[in-house]
Amino acid sequence: MGLKFGNMGKIFESEFHKGVMVAVVDSGDYQYQQLAPLFNEYGYGFVAPDQRLIFVDGDQSASTQKIVEAHEVGHIVFNHTGIVGPNDEAEADSWAILTLRKYGYSLEADRLTIEFKKRHGYSYNHAQNKRNKIKVLTTMFVNQIV
Ligand SMILES: [Zn+2]
Repeated sequence: MGLKFGNMGKIFESEFHKGVMVAVVDSGDYQYQQLAPLFNEYGYGFVAPDQRLIFVDGDQSASTQKIVEAHEVGHIVFNHTGIVGPNDEAEADSWAILTLRKYGYSLEADRLTIEFKKRHGYSYNHAQNKRNKIKVLTTMFVNQIV
């Protein structure tokens, strides 16, 4: 559920992170024309420079929107700023998979786990064995006690 601010599309607080707002903008919103090239470049979503607002392409399915939201919140949690590298993308996806599962989005977590290999060239389980394993688990723990 979200609030509708005039023609601003749907804006709501992310269930995955307090204080992070999600703006879902679809082709019915007047800003969509300006944002569409960014969605195409960054893959249906991106984080605003202030790290407190995520834009999500509302023309994608509800399922895809949830995956994009979780992925972008992952970037915020890991404080990925500036130029985002391949390992940053894998970290954001790893965090998103764990988070989607934790919040009951099993289908979305399964989908992203399958897409992980296509996106990063190695499987999600393998990624967990790399250095981001500790980072992801630590973040999940912190998330639970906050
Ligand atoms: Zn990303």
